[in-house]
Amino acid sequence: MDSKRILVTGGAGFLGSHLCERLVADGHEVLCVDNYFTGRRSNISHLLGKPGFEAMRHDVTFPLYVEVDEIYNLACPASPIHYQHDPVQTTKTSVIGAINMLGLAKRCKAKLLQASTSEIYGDPVVHPQVESYWGNVNPIGPRSCYDEGKRCAETLVFDYRRQHGMDVKVIRIFNTYGPRMNLGDGRVISNFVVQALRGEPITVYGGGSQTRSFCFVDDLIEGMMRMMATPENVSGPVNIGNPNEMTIRELAETVIAATGSRSELVDRPAMEDDPQQRRPDITRAGELLDWRPEITLSEGLGRTIDYFRGVLAEQA
Ligand code: NAD
Ligand code: UDP
Ligand code: UDP
Repeated sequence: MDSKRILVTGGAGFLGSHLCERLVADGHEVLCVDNYFTGRRSNISHLLGKPGFEAMRHDVTFPLYVEVDEIYNLACPASPIHYQHDPVQTTKTSVIGAINMLGLAKRCKAKLLQASTSEIYGDPVVHPQVESYWGNVNPIGPRSCYDEGKRCAETLVFDYRRQHGMDVKVIRIFNTYGPRMNLGDGRVISNFVVQALRGEPITVYGGGSQTRSFCFVDDLIEGMMRMMATPENVSGPVNIGNPNEMTIRELAETVIAATGSRSELVDRPAMEDDPQQRRPDITRAGELLDWRPEITLSEGLGRTIDYFRGVLAEQA
């Protein structure tokens, strides 16, 4: 395979670090750019000595002048507690970050892949979510900085494509989990697994009848890289996720069984504007990328539990 110069923004985060690892293993020159807001150096420490890997501290809301062939734009906090911590910065990261990376891609004649999200569908009334659905998003609520920021980033990608004829791609990522999720980032899988391993109560928000569909990180990264490899006429958006839908209460029970924990479920108030149902329609990913998830929840959860066992043992 030809070696390319590839920029990964948000490369020290959960998904970004797995992507950098795959790209380095494939023999590419990888530049990881991150401001370490939610990412950690420890996520990429195993890559730092490798030829072809370079890490740079930089905030994507500021211009970046480097020479690259491909850009994966992942920089943006993804968990509600983090993206709501400084909502103005979240919108700036998505919108100004996308403008800067698109400007960079335009100057370098590089391909760009934008990491969008199932959140752009909001609290969906079409189920499962197909890419042609325009969504049901509150423009002024606590989740809006993330949802509308990502929607605007999609707008920018398609306008740069129409206006400048660029080779750009959008994937809409559905809930993804696995090793290197941040222990304290508040997402449901990391919360439930850590609570179960510590024997603490499992916090179920808003009754737990809301649904999500969970994709293991390796499957997601494979779909993302296949999307980048598509020809210029393919730009998406393409949903990438695992259609295996379950309620949050079922997830809690699955985690308790998989860890052998004696934790009990406790009810906590609902998150404001929490989407009530979510499941990707992945027909398009099958047709365009010949992609479908391969890793079952029990296998992926097992690997995630092993990871968090290790993290907790290190802390002890
Ligand atoms: P993460 O929080 O682990 O990673 C995000 C990374 O971006 C972090 O390393 C963070 O430090 C960095 N970052 C944030 N603001 C930045 C800025 N201004 N400049 C440079 N770096 C910045 O989250 P993740 O789960 O790895 O998410 C990666 C991408 O995938 C995000 O764009 C997210 O919206 C998208 N996504 C993730 C999921 C999921 O389930 N994990 C679902 C949908 C979309
Ligand atoms: N930009 C960048 N690196 C580059 C080229 C551009 O960070 O190599 C940023 C720069 O801040 C610019 C933005 O991308 O404002 C958008 O670039 P574009 O060429 O679309 O528009 P400009 O604002 O330069 O007219
Ligand atoms: N959730 C929960 N307990 C937790 C964390 C999250 O019940 O400790 C719920 C949350 O209200 C939402 C679902 O789990 O309905 C998924 O939350 P997460 O933050 O992981 O992802 P997102 O809401 O962005 O899909």
